[in-house]
Amino acid sequence: MNEVAEPVYTEGGAVLLDGNQLRDDTVMQLRARIERAGSPSVCLATVLVGDDAPSRVYVNMKHRKATEAGIESRGVELPASATQQEVEEAVAQLVADPDVHGILVQLPLPDHLDPEPVLALLSPEKDVDGLTDRSLGRLVRGLPGHAPCTPLGVMRLIEAYGIGTVGKRAVVIGRSTLVGLPQMLLLGRKGCDATVTLAHSRTSDLVEVCRSADIIVAAVGQAGMITGEHVRPGATVIDVGVSRSETGIVGDVVFDEVQAIAGAITPMPGGTGPMTIACLLENTVSAAAMLGVTSLSGV
Ligand code: NAP
Repeated sequence: MNEVAEPVYTEGGAVLLDGNQLRDDTVMQLRARIERAGSPSVCLATVLVGDDAPSRVYVNMKHRKATEAGIESRGVELPASATQQEVEEAVAQLVADPDVHGILVQLPLPDHLDPEPVLALLSPEKDVDGLTDRSLGRLVRGLPGHAPCTPLGVMRLIEAYGIGTVGKRAVVIGRSTLVGLPQMLLLGRKGCDATVTLAHSRTSDLVEVCRSADIIVAAVGQAGMITGEHVRPGATVIDVGVSRSETGIVGDVVFDEVQAIAGAITPMPGGTGPMTIACLLENTVSAAAMLGVTSLSGV
């Protein structure tokens, strides 16, 4: 497990949960692990359909960081006009290819395509995004598999900064299968042992619910919905939500206000986003080990 050597503090005295730093540390550690294993080929394939600009930026970033980690990356691109069958065939080819260890289908797909049958083609080993029914089922049942990268990245931040979870109260705001629901499972599972409340759009008294928490994970996508009044002194506040404003990307948390009260806080950007990529790469190396690159096991 990574540990952050020297925490940086915000002006208000909260520990800054620096996702950029931890991602870079993770990339270097994965690279070292692959080298110790004798530099076997580890390959991540991405599937990008259409020309959505933010999706292309995300995919390019994933390729860049994969290369830094010593992971080969293969980009499959299909035009926005691709049919359901063409996308499914492209994914099926990657599933069948023994040289490919992890597959990431960049979502959202164009409106005319149904992502469910595409994701259903992924084997649990190659589903490094952890988003298929089978991967989520394995997470629920506590079986080996890949957890979704964003909530796993939140767990890696919590671990690296030594934030206690056993017996602590955590509130996860948002209940999607991409973030909130798996986040609840990860925080509440044995070994982590937080007592977790799952809040959503129908939760009454969100302020009160949040004020009872030692750890708040906000995964909604409503800019600035978590203010100082939601946070009890010393709590850890993790911002997953992303909204685009004229000034750039903003999170669900009013950083300036909350950092003066919290004990630890993520920046936005620079917190959970980079950790999502770090965990994609971590899952890819685990996938290679699961798929028989035996030299990676135990190094
Ligand atoms: P989503 O599927 O739209 O889910 C949003 C959740 O927020 C829903 O469960 C919704 O409740 C809840 N919600 C909406 N309004 C609320 C309110 N006023 N109070 C409490 N809960 C409320 O979104 P998602 O895919 O989980 O993503 C959440 C956010 O994280 C988005 O901004 C997304 O862009 C961002 N994200 C960031 C990263 C990263 O790497 N940092 C990765 C993935 C996603 P209901 O279920 O009741 O509708």
